[in-house]
Amino acid sequence: MLTIAVGSKTSKAIMARFVQQNKDWIVAHAPDLTRAPESPLVASVDLAALSMSLKLCYADDPKPMIENKHNLQPSYLYLPYPRDQTEASLLWLRNWLKEKAFQTFSPWLAHLSQQTGLSYHALTIGLHKTRWGSYDQSATINLHAGLLLMPPAIVDYVMIHELCHSLHWDHSAAFWQAVSQHYGPSQEARQYLKKAHHHLPAWAYLSPRELVLGR
Ligand SMILES: [Zn+2]
Repeated sequence: MLTIAVGSKTSKAIMARFVQQNKDWIVAHAPDLTRAPESPLVASVDLAALSMSLKLCYADDPKPMIENKHNLQPSYLYLPYPRDQTEASLLWLRNWLKEKAFQTFSPWLAHLSQQTGLSYHALTIGLHKTRWGSYDQSATINLHAGLLLMPPAIVDYVMIHELCHSLHWDHSAAFWQAVSQHYGPSQEARQYLKKAHHHLPAWAYLSPRELVLGR
């Protein structure tokens, strides 16, 4: 979409003439105007929860980088797509993050459950836009894969918060007492999570389609 800002007294005729006179420029720049403002291509992933940072290597990156794959360079993440397949790459990356989150959080949550004596039945991983965690009626805990990109203390907090729902469904005073008993003061973690979208890269909470097309 092209937006032209004009004063309130500008007539339709003047606007039409302006567009007509600048038609060539508008047509020439049309690809820029329809592209999302920021390139959604991802260069690296910071897994703060694991104190680990990975550089992304695309299928059409220079050969030395690709060859590192055979030496199992731990600091690279190898995507099976070239750089121009943005949507496919983002989809792959999001699935990778979900899998990595499941591998990482399964033993982590089991450990916290054992430590606190708070029980759950199963763990699932999601990439929903707004919820960092949930505890449902079948005692399944769902965690946002984007938590992998947050500090370990935040992951601990979300896990303990959800585990405390095994005792109390609501966010009553008794619930918060249980959280403070098992986690300690949680004010800082809660503040962080309120603004967590600012810490996360857009690909971790917007769908690839939204990213490629612009929001
Ligand atoms: Zn809750």
